[in-house]
Amino acid sequence: MVQVNGIEFTQNLVPTSKYSIKCPNVMVAKKITVHNTYNDAKASNEVSYEVTNANQVSFHVAVDDLGAMQGIPLNRNAWHCGDGANGYGNRNTIGVEICYSKSGGSKYTKSEQNAIKYIAGLCVQQKIVATVDTIKKHEDWSGKHCPHRILDEKRWGSVQKAIIDEYNRITKAPSKPETTPSKPSTGGSIVDYLNSKKIDSSMANRKKLAAKHGIANYTGTAAQNTALLNKLKASAAPAPSKPAQSSYKGNSLVDYLVSVKKASDFSARAKYATQNGIKSYKGTAAQNTQLLKKMRGF
Ligand SMILES: [Zn+2]
Repeated sequence: MVQVNGIEFTQNLVPTSKYSIKCPNVMVAKKITVHNTYNDAKASNEVSYEVTNANQVSFHVAVDDLGAMQGIPLNRNAWHCGDGANGYGNRNTIGVEICYSKSGGSKYTKSEQNAIKYIAGLCVQQKIVATVDTIKKHEDWSGKHCPHRILDEKRWGSVQKAIIDEYNRITKAPSKPETTPSKPSTGGSIVDYLNSKKIDSSMANRKKLAAKHGIANYTGTAAQNTALLNKLKASAAPAPSKPAQSSYKGNSLVDYLVSVKKASDFSARAKYATQNGIKSYKGTAAQNTQLLKKMRGF
């Protein structure tokens, strides 16, 4: 099962025969448009209705209390902004519907919470930096009173901020700086060499290293340093490549990839699988778990 930022993600994609009605144009999404369904149906019903009817009305993803379901490819436009065939909203933004908004209640609250997390993850996937300029509401494009419940409750500012905060949280650089691969030292200085390997180059530590490598009575002479340098270089095993630092500890490969800012789409995962010796990658749960272990190191 696939998750996006911890939210269950499924698809019921519109058949290509309906592209001309539902999503005629190729699109590189630049922003997200948030909607309320003004209905009390679950996401799978919203999407199945969308992809089977013949109306020129469409949205990309519906989110309910259980997860997110996609109906329109994210690289095609959908008709959800009411700003016309060439409107910016219709042609450049991904439409996300939040379910159960008509009656509200706990299912709606959970749907909205899920949408906040999902949209933050979606922004990462789509390389959209979440800001007040990229997280838009339907109303911004056509003046329609949507997302109606959020507007009625005067919470647009806080919902928008919650999405941006969540995006910032999951994209925040890990607290530890990324280790840069050390360049092989070509110079003759033992200190430079140790520094390049991020090894303590103090006299005390060099003395220890010298003793370990059979250099007696190390006092730091040029000859001893050269001897030590040669021994260290000779015994240096190729450094294992460190997995990228991530604070993510969960079990979702996609979430892990998002947390280390790597592409998480299927073709990228297939490539990582090949690189990590996993043959015939099909994206099964077992393969994803195996790949996560290999990439993260646990
Ligand atoms: Zn709307």
